[in-house]
Amino acid sequence: MCPKIFPERGIKEYSEEKDACVMEFTKKGYSYLLHQLFAQGYQFCGFTETDYPNNIVILRHDIDFSLQAAVKLSDLEAELNVPSTWFVLVNTEFYNIHATTAKKSLQRIQENGGTIGLHFDARQCLCDMNQTDNYEDYQMAINTLVQQEADILANVIQHPIETVAFHCPSQQIIEMNIHFENMVNAYSDLFFREFKYVSDSRMHWRENIDEYIKSKKYSKLQILTHAFWYPVSYQSMSAHLKNFCSDAMLERYDMLEKNFDRLNNVLNRREFCAGG
Ligand SMILES: [Zn+2]
Repeated sequence: MCPKIFPERGIKEYSEEKDACVMEFTKKGYSYLLHQLFAQGYQFCGFTETDYPNNIVILRHDIDFSLQAAVKLSDLEAELNVPSTWFVLVNTEFYNIHATTAKKSLQRIQENGGTIGLHFDARQCLCDMNQTDNYEDYQMAINTLVQQEADILANVIQHPIETVAFHCPSQQIIEMNIHFENMVNAYSDLFFREFKYVSDSRMHWRENIDEYIKSKKYSKLQILTHAFWYPVSYQSMSAHLKNFCSDAMLERYDMLEKNFDRLNNVLNRREFCAGG
């Protein structure tokens, strides 16, 4: 059974935000998306239900770049009492799940009612498949790596990992419909074909999700969003990425300062910020 959601106050906020649009890549736009789903009678579910009745939506978030951005959207979902699943990379250059700040972010997402899943980048597999490779060997290799990363993530969040979603999956990976012993595959035939799957990849809805929800065209939805694209105020993609890079520079400076005595004498922060 899926949990019932949305207290009355959620509906009130909806009327105040009627000017927003699902397609708008802001926190407000995401809030509107949730309210639209609620208004159309969708129930919010996770990936590990035993049964999926009609009018179901699974909210999925892939954390590709920023745990901080994830926490902000997770806070919004907590306000509205909406459950969702957050997929976390273990093998990434963008964040380190063992860092104290990252652990706090993951804890916050869990406290907000979010479920943590593994976001797995299959491109790391050394046994890149071509047409002559053995599917079974490839799947076994993926299974082993997924289990290793799931164990690491489970240890960090102190909770079992029950769902895995591939990062930038190839068509082959999706078509393989890989089965995992102890985990649900978010790209399995059930969630990718029986559910209508829609994604905001690269800040772009390839399909009219607004219309899908309003018309209730699909009774089972998997909606993938990336919290990274939903700041408070709208930014173009280039502005967004530029800010992300400049923030990272300052974060690097701040980290250096914590580990480098009198850094300011060697590299002045103000000059650094000004690009000097
Ligand atoms: Zn991803």
